Amino acid sequence: MTDPLAFLGAELDELRAKGLYRRLRVVESEQAAHCRIDGREVITLSSNNYLGLTTHPKLRRAAIEAVEAFGAGSGAVRTIAGTMTLHQQLEARLAEFKHVEATLTFQSGFTANTGAIPILAPEGSVIVSDELNHASIIDGIRLSKAERRIFPHADTDALRATLRDIRSAPGGADRTVLVITDGVFSMDGDIARLPEIVEAAEEFEAAVFVDDAHASGVLGRNGRGTVDHFDLHGRVHVQVGTLSKAIGVLGGYVAGSLNLREVLIHRARPFLFSTSHPPAVAAACLAAIDVLESEPDRLERLWANTRLFKDGMRRLGFDIGGSETPITPVIAGSGALAMKLSDRLFEEGVFAQGIGFPTVPDARSRVRTIVTAEHSETDLAECLAAFELVGRELGLI
Ligand SMILES: *Cc1c(COP(=O)(O)O)cnc(C)c1O
Repeated sequence: MTDPLAFLGAELDELRAKGLYRRLRVVESEQAAHCRIDGREVITLSSNNYLGLTTHPKLRRAAIEAVEAFGAGSGAVRTIAGTMTLHQQLEARLAEFKHVEATLTFQSGFTANTGAIPILAPEGSVIVSDELNHASIIDGIRLSKAERRIFPHADTDALRATLRDIRSAPGGADRTVLVITDGVFSMDGDIARLPEIVEAAEEFEAAVFVDDAHASGVLGRNGRGTVDHFDLHGRVHVQVGTLSKAIGVLGGYVAGSLNLREVLIHRARPFLFSTSHPPAVAAACLAAIDVLESEPDRLERLWANTRLFKDGMRRLGFDIGGSETPITPVIAGSGALAMKLSDRLFEEGVFAQGIGFPTVPDARSRVRTIVTAEHSETDLAECLAAFELVGRELGLI
């Protein structure tokens, strides 16, 4: 009898042949600047733990106390029996922090996008999306019955032309139009041109949706995100944030109007059909927001480290793209070379993951690095030395 799933093996063979096969590396320690991974002590440049909050004593304590007071799980989806006081407290705290009417949390940033986008863009409406938007936005768009228009990355002239085209078509004046952009683009580290996007959207009466996953805790005052960074409060209709990256825990949220929150409670499928966060997650996220406000020096250290590392990489002669944030891509040129760069760095004590097709075009395959507030100057000097050694070896510099 033939194996009806034989294509799986063929797919793996193809990945191996292209040098793109990845084994998952296993972190045997805390997720911190120094980790033990696959039996080796390394400095990691691969986590999204921008502010070092994954191991912050206040988050640990909050999680432990929540387990002791409320147990390990929430028991049900939010609409049935799974909304706990901690969930409510976190949402109220996030709304205040973000200067919006209301927020609603989801299990992850991914489900916040796939949950909210189909609701915000019902049948008959149009979604206008940057071509480099995150996979969870793309999946959210796929789940929507709206028409979709993709504009070239960060090209606000093209965005404007698309909006004009939509509005001038027959019946176009009355359609709901939703413009979606990442706040910080996760693979290249550039910041969305939000002021221009907002102006274009206002001119054509479109709603603006910003996914601030990599900006949450990183940009704006105390890490309030891109809307705060550009002082666009009140002009962006929907913000998605993640609690899984700089916030150090897990989760996502949609921030906007009270009406938006209430409709999502009734309609968003991951909210309705998937169980809510355990108490420890909500409690640790609450503690993280307190830390964002009480320890602004973490954000300062993050940006100082970002400048130090980028300057060093530039001086060594690496192609590090046009990033404006702590995300620094190191372009290798092919998937196989990016994986080789990553593997050799690992042998030299630095963990920086290689990223290739389909996440980025093959010719722009890269090692993506993210420095954190927790890296010391010595750590960064060691990372630069490893990049110099391996970069010369592989002919990248
Ligand atoms: C990481 C990321 C997400 C997903 O967030 P999770 O909380 O990890 O699910 C969504 N959007 C963007 C732009 C991201 O970078």
